[in-house]
Amino acid sequence: MIKGAEEIIKRLNEQGYPSYLVGGCVRDIIMGNTPNDYDITTAATPERIMEIFSHTVPTGLKHGTVTVILNGITYEVTTFREDGAYEDNRHPKEVTFSKELKDDIKRRDFTINAIAYSKSEGFIDYFDGINDIKNKIIRTVNNPRDRFSEDALRILRGIRFSSRFGFEIEEETFKAMCTLMPLIKNISGERIFSELKGMFEKEPAKACRILKDTSFFKVTDFKVNEKNITKLEVLDKKSFEGVFSILTEGIEDYKSFLHSLKPSNRVKSTIRKIKNSLNFKIENKRDLKLLLYEQVCEEELEDIIAVRKALGCDNVDLNMFYEEIRKNNECFLIKNLKINGNDLLALGYKGEDIKKTLDFLVRRVIEDNGINKKERLIEI
Ligand code: ATP
Ligand code: MG
Repeated sequence: MIKGAEEIIKRLNEQGYPSYLVGGCVRDIIMGNTPNDYDITTAATPERIMEIFSHTVPTGLKHGTVTVILNGITYEVTTFREDGAYEDNRHPKEVTFSKELKDDIKRRDFTINAIAYSKSEGFIDYFDGINDIKNKIIRTVNNPRDRFSEDALRILRGIRFSSRFGFEIEEETFKAMCTLMPLIKNISGERIFSELKGMFEKEPAKACRILKDTSFFKVTDFKVNEKNITKLEVLDKKSFEGVFSILTEGIEDYKSFLHSLKPSNRVKSTIRKIKNSLNFKIENKRDLKLLLYEQVCEEELEDIIAVRKALGCDNVDLNMFYEEIRKNNECFLIKNLKINGNDLLALGYKGEDIKKTLDFLVRRVIEDNGINKKERLIEI
């Protein structure tokens, strides 16, 4: 157990508050993975947590969460909590603090995420999560129909955990996912986006098979090219943008679903560039430079190359071409020409003609990098 978390739990215990590590970090430790964050659950109220520790941030007081900073590491410390009735298939109407660990554990989504641990008491596992980790099973805490109706986002979380860890979804849990998938329409686009992103960056092929089997694509009107799901298995760079582009290859109307997820402009433009790149035929280094010039897509190139490879677009090795271009410092942008607008101005060119001439020259240089010398370009 990480020293800082141990220290926080010890200090809370000294003040008489039972406290434990809980959730994803306990699951990760049992599975032998390094947790990406540490959640502590405690009988102390947020006010008491802030009195006991000198460096705190009131991150989510309404939900009882205080961030404690110890030796530069942050820990989310949350008061034992019971969720009241849920509204809109996502949010509990009210949250009440509790003195009992069990109340806090039973509001959690899956058995594998519902294990508490402290150094003095060891694992506290009311819902047999350790066995489910051993047997690689995703199962809700208590009745899956109730739990998914309370909060439909849990359906996507379950699919994310199943695909990421390669765990089987327990039968009743899976049936409830299928039946209740339509509730996903009540979940905000942003939340759906962040779950899909989590899935697509880890095990996209597995995730998409489960999304298909549970009717996610149908319910959300996310039109996908189903035969491309297997191609995700050979995708070298797993990103939301790359996976989305492969799934919607050949689908005209992909934008309405994408926009409903409210992604950043950056995500949208990366997808647009990947999709545009698919119209290019690349047979040699010159073709690749032309793509980089016309689409201004150097930053997206890794995604573009990975997607094209997964879709089997090329017979040539684009990575090798790109390495060569970089190594030789080959010019494919106007700004890297050995002549600029001012030079042309001095030669008597004006307005539009300057732009047209630079465009003409960069295309010539893309054909033959050897001519990228000032005198030669003036001559041309
Ligand atoms: P990850 O590794 O993706 O962060 P995690 O399990 O830590 O996985 P978090 O979203 O960080 O997921 O949540 C921490 C814990 O809070 C979960 O392990 C779970 O116990 C509980 N939790 C989170 N979201 C929900 C939810 N929608 N319903 C019930 N419990 C939840
Ligand atoms: Mg977490």
